[in-house]
Amino acid sequence: MFDNLSEKLDKALHSLKGHGQITEINVAETLKEVRRALLDADVNFKIAKEFTNKVKDKALGQNVLTTLQPGQLMVKIVKDELTELMGGETEGIDLSGNPSVILMSGLQGSGKTTFSGKLANFLKNKKSKKPLLVACDVYRPAAIDQLHVVGEQIGVEVYSDRENNDPVAIAKAGIKHAKSLGCNVVIIDTAGRLAVDEQMMNEIANIHKAIEPQETLFVVDAMTGQDAVNTAKAFNDVLNFDGVILTKLDGDTRGGAAISIKSVVNKPIKFIGTGEKMEAIDVFHPSRMADRILG
Ligand code: GDP
Repeated sequence: MFDNLSEKLDKALHSLKGHGQITEINVAETLKEVRRALLDADVNFKIAKEFTNKVKDKALGQNVLTTLQPGQLMVKIVKDELTELMGGETEGIDLSGNPSVILMSGLQGSGKTTFSGKLANFLKNKKSKKPLLVACDVYRPAAIDQLHVVGEQIGVEVYSDRENNDPVAIAKAGIKHAKSLGCNVVIIDTAGRLAVDEQMMNEIANIHKAIEPQETLFVVDAMTGQDAVNTAKAFNDVLNFDGVILTKLDGDTRGGAAISIKSVVNKPIKFIGTGEKMEAIDVFHPSRMADRILG
């Protein structure tokens, strides 16, 4: 994960580690390299610039140059700032409702249906919840089939209504069905399109308004880099969602989306998807991710 970025940051910081004497010049050079590494990883230009400025201010504030191990302190500052950039603390999801309704949003192909299954499986096995999956994609029968396959795989009931083409009505009926089954979590999978368009946004906004979910999660493919950040912004403007799910982090992603998304939409990344299997889900820990990136 983010091998290239890790390697470049390691190289950038290497010149500071073990240096007997650190000067303002090599700190400045290091920060330039750090910024370059972030830009290469597809981090937004403004964010990369702000990041290195913050690290510089902190380094000056802590008198890095006069400490005993300036290199190590610089690495720590970079790690702390990277953690902060990705969200600081780990944020959970609100399961206080009865049932708790979780609305999934995102583009087609982002991994919504797969993640809906993963989340249901996670809540069932790790949180002893009884989830119901609801299929609200009224355009693609294959999407409904896919959710049924996923449900069967993990032993979770799926609600769908192939005769109905009103996603709001299906979502409402799904919640009612969950109550009748004694389910305490309802995960609503919705229709996505290949790009942001008005119809999709109106539809998801209508569902959101009608069911007032405890959690609205935005699913995005980490491989799409800056596009992921732009799509997040478009969805957040309409839904004011509660959290981001970054999928396909097992792929050859450069990491820009993971690093930029929190500061652009000011919403936490809550989970990551790391594979196609139902078990490939992890709670997102900003500090652990920073550790991984910086080695
Ligand atoms: P949806 O259109 O948003 O519902 O997307 P899907 O759930 O159908 O996922 C699209 C494709 O991405 C499928 O082939 C999934 O198996 C794959 N996929 C989803 N999540 C991940 C992930 O975390 N890692 C990898 N490698 N593939 C994923």
